[in-house]
Amino acid sequence: MNLLIIGPQGCGKGTQAKRLSLKYGIPHISTGDIFRENIKQKTELGKLAEDIINQGKLVPDDITFGIIKKRLLEDDCKNGYILDGFPRNIEQADMLEGFLETEFAINISTKDKEAINRIAGRRTCINGHVYHVTLNPPKKMGVCDVCQKPLFQRDDDKPETIRKRLKVYHEKTKPLIEHYTNLGKIIDINGEQPIEKVFKDIVKKLER
Ligand code: ADP
Ligand code: ADP
Repeated sequence: MNLLIIGPQGCGKGTQAKRLSLKYGIPHISTGDIFRENIKQKTELGKLAEDIINQGKLVPDDITFGIIKKRLLEDDCKNGYILDGFPRNIEQADMLEGFLETEFAINISTKDKEAINRIAGRRTCINGHVYHVTLNPPKKMGVCDVCQKPLFQRDDDKPETIRKRLKVYHEKTKPLIEHYTNLGKIIDINGEQPIEKVFKDIVKKLER
């Protein structure tokens, strides 16, 4: 099961990818998480990516594809994987398709207004567990249910950067929907429904 998940910031890619990973026993590979881990560890990659990410721009394709390629060659990907945040433009999709074939591209559609509301309320712990202050709150305010660490807002989730990132989504990433539709691989999902319903819809279409 070689899957990828597309949609604007805040549509729920990470939320749904985590669930699909658990259900199907395939790894959830998020380029954003990989970059954030490298920033935390202060690696060379982290130093290079930090400014770009905080400006809401895309990290160069060759660097990003290099990371993905290495990750997809790891043993746990042999029965499939779910990519979240990659590819992000047509060039990256071509790089990926030249390397491994995608079975389904899941498109989670969400309007900008809802996406902005979700990102503004997104909170995460140091280990990447994700909540929303009102839509998906933790049991105890400001504390992660899983690891009990404090929750914070990502630096790139501030309003100025959100608008810039959504613009990049519309210009660069959205054309992927047509690209995968033409390949007959798209699964269209309405992202403006509760988390559980979105998940059910994805599973139903994957298993059709
Ligand atoms: P993405 O990975 O696409 O940027 P996330 O999975 O991080 O999106 O979700 C963005 C925010 O919206 C998070 O705070 C998450 O808890 C919340 N969220 C995700 N899916 C839904 C949904 N279907 N309804 C309401 N809130 C959601
Ligand atoms: P979101 O889905 O909420 O925008 P991500 O966690 O997927 O956020 O990505 C955070 C940032 O990491 C992006 O804004 C971008 O700077 C960088 N990034 C992630 N994936 C890619 C990619 N495939 N190509 C280039 N840059 C990427």
